[in-house]
Amino acid sequence: MVTKSNRLRNRLLSLLLLSALLAGCATPTPTLAPPATASPLPPTPTVTVTPSLTPTALPSATSTPQPTVTASPTATFTPTATLVPAAQIPIIEYHDPDFKLNDQVQMTPAWFEEQTRWLFDNGYHTLTGDELAAFLDGTAAFPQKSVVLTFDVGTAKKQIYTEIVIPTLKKFKFHAVFFILANDSVVTDDCSKPKHFCWNDFKQWADDGVVTIASHGLYHPDFTKLTPTEIKYELDTPRKLLLEKTGRLPVGFAFPFDTTSPVASKLTQAAGYEFAVAGNTRLELAAAPNDPDRFKLPRVYPYSNARIYPNLTGFNHPFADVISNLTRPGTVLSAVITPATPIGGGDSKADKIIQFCKALPTETILRMTLLLQSSFDSDLSGSAQAKLPGLSTSISCNVLPKNQPEAIVIHYTVGELAASAYGFRQPNGTSAHYLIDRDGKVVQMVPESLAALHASCTNTRSNCVPTCPICDDASGKLTEPYLRSVGIELVNRGHVAAPGMVPQIYEDFLRSFTYPYWEDYTQAQIDALRVLVYDISARWKIPVDDRHILGHYRINQKVDPGPALNLFWTRSGNPKSPPIFAETPAPVRP
Ligand SMILES: [Zn+2]
Repeated sequence: MVTKSNRLRNRLLSLLLLSALLAGCATPTPTLAPPATASPLPPTPTVTVTPSLTPTALPSATSTPQPTVTASPTATFTPTATLVPAAQIPIIEYHDPDFKLNDQVQMTPAWFEEQTRWLFDNGYHTLTGDELAAFLDGTAAFPQKSVVLTFDVGTAKKQIYTEIVIPTLKKFKFHAVFFILANDSVVTDDCSKPKHFCWNDFKQWADDGVVTIASHGLYHPDFTKLTPTEIKYELDTPRKLLLEKTGRLPVGFAFPFDTTSPVASKLTQAAGYEFAVAGNTRLELAAAPNDPDRFKLPRVYPYSNARIYPNLTGFNHPFADVISNLTRPGTVLSAVITPATPIGGGDSKADKIIQFCKALPTETILRMTLLLQSSFDSDLSGSAQAKLPGLSTSISCNVLPKNQPEAIVIHYTVGELAASAYGFRQPNGTSAHYLIDRDGKVVQMVPESLAALHASCTNTRSNCVPTCPICDDASGKLTEPYLRSVGIELVNRGHVAAPGMVPQIYEDFLRSFTYPYWEDYTQAQIDALRVLVYDISARWKIPVDDRHILGHYRINQKVDPGPALNLFWTRSGNPKSPPIFAETPAPVRP
């Protein structure tokens, strides 16, 4: 755990986020860097169209389809035309056509008209919510030129929908998926209000076949900060309400702020939704059949600002280029954004990362896109990497030169990997060298030779515990622990109120760290932690003992990583377990 975190703060944050929403709706905020491996796509199926033709003359010899000609001059033949259906379909994320999130992320009615007209002029098909679900199932094929138009309807701006959005959709015979925020700051039963939608508006548009009813939740909280119970409430309540008010179950869900977590995705599926959309959170920019992550589908941002238009923010290409690229036959994965150059390895790695960070733009989406695509060569040895179930790298710029590791500090994340990685990508945020997910997969975000901001006395020795082993130099002067250690974060929720709230739990009878129940670390995490600790300590000549392999609580006054991580002691609660590490001396310096 890097940041101070408690329920009250989360509550305040939720309120702040809600007020941010009320001021201007959803912030597209990318989260997790997916592993470097490309998502497998199913083999491209072919649709065979067999029109029946009865020609009066013999077919010309130049036709590509091979006609079967019989001797009779009145022979019929059946040419076989082969259409390649869409291998992937981009989902476009609109709000209203007058949406202004910030200086960079904007939409105007003129741009909206231009983009939709381009789709129409170029023969694009727009999917309904049910069609998208069938496409994801792999049970329906659609033309190569298909898109899903989505609107996050999160503010009471009825007029622009009735005057621009709906007429535009009708004019082009387009269909759109409306993710409706189902609270009375947006929609009420009263149809006479000028700004608010009334439920009957949505029902009518759905009846007209223009709109698919979908859900954007109830109060627009950040789902990465909610408990499973709170998430379920945000999923179930609007679902019932939308059914009651429009007669339709919402087929899909759009995560507020475009952020999600594996737990939220799972609960969205359990709540009965067919799919869920996040934002620019994956390297893939379009949805594909049998998508392994259909509760975190990526969306394309069509936004720009007046200075760069017609280019889109984050893409540096016009809308037409972005959509053509994503729907071109044979295009499987995104190739639209110029990828950040991989940093590589070697002695200059740390310098290159510092340079990369200095050159990062401040604009949120662009910055996030580049960070999400960034990579460098991991410090872990080849033999250590071979023992891990997965390893990826992605840069956090919350770093300082220069680190001289004498110890390893272990933390827990207080939540999902996506949320921590997201925090590590925020400007002026915290960081750690490694994150270990529950399945044992490792993400390295800071090279070991740079200082990661995971444990600090913030320039005052008394901010750290008196017994801190890495907070003083030989003369007793303060030395910051983050300049002397490698930080490892284990994905873990932390203390829970009662058993049953997380899949596996450790019960500490003695309450040695205050709390009786703590999410237990998985065996895969412990195995990966061992691999990391032994590899790091061998390379930096750090003894594996109680003075050098430290829980964060040994530095700052906090319960971190809690009672379930028994580094050098036997765990005697339930379930019991032997120490994770046996003391071994440091490797001899050559
Ligand atoms: Zn910590």
